[in-house]
Amino acid sequence: MLMRPVGGKKVHWQEMLRHELVAALTQDPVVIVPVGSIEQHGPHCPQDVDISIPFHLAMQAAAAIDEFPVIVAPPVGLGFTHYNMGEVGTITLSLATFIDVLCDVSRSLWANGFHRLILLNGHGGNEQPSWAAAMKLAEEDVWPVALTYWNMAPKELRAWSEADDGSIGHGGEWETSLQLYLRPDLVDMSRAVKDEWRLKFGPEVGRYARFPERRREMAHGVMGDPFVASAAKGERFFSILRERLIALCREYHEIDPPIYREFGSHCP
Ligand SMILES: [Zn+2]
Repeated sequence: MLMRPVGGKKVHWQEMLRHELVAALTQDPVVIVPVGSIEQHGPHCPQDVDISIPFHLAMQAAAAIDEFPVIVAPPVGLGFTHYNMGEVGTITLSLATFIDVLCDVSRSLWANGFHRLILLNGHGGNEQPSWAAAMKLAEEDVWPVALTYWNMAPKELRAWSEADDGSIGHGGEWETSLQLYLRPDLVDMSRAVKDEWRLKFGPEVGRYARFPERRREMAHGVMGDPFVASAAKGERFFSILRERLIALCREYHEIDPPIYREFGSHCP
């Protein structure tokens, strides 16, 4: 998993020497924590789809920016995915443990002096829990930005969907495309299947009312249509995500997190 960017630039936190981290601290660095999950992704995709995508995005953003340090923290590869249990391959953390892991990692990075943190998530079940972790940390005056990668380009995702209607799905059109682009040797399209979306509520009410997921009830553990996936689509989507992440890093470098000041500190 610890591949290096083309050109061999050092971007991984765990490979840095102490003086390199100290030097980075003087240049308003951004630290990206890839956050994902190990879980079944249908019969044709590997278990680590959801951590591989934020990891590749983080690594490429870090490699692309030379004006200041962007460092990729050790990936948090295990997530909150109880609803994928029941298909072989899934390893889940409990909700409280997952939130605690994100909080402890963020607190540690913060305590090291790194105050521009991005928790870059790649798993649907982690989305609200990652935000909950950020909310919890804000109460302690620790300020990561928690975001989920596909939310960086929702309009493009919808406009470019042929089958999955703007949803990242699960082993469907988009995750399969991204894997075919990033790691084609790990995808076996001869085993691909399409699953129907199963919603309890009808289409109208289902727009605003839904249950948390319980994917084990789906026939093949897939959401969406992998048969319209392609490496070219994956590359197109990945490129826009990469661009947006780079833009976020550049802007984040220029601003300070909203650390609480003493009451009255705004008064002249
Ligand atoms: Zn996934």
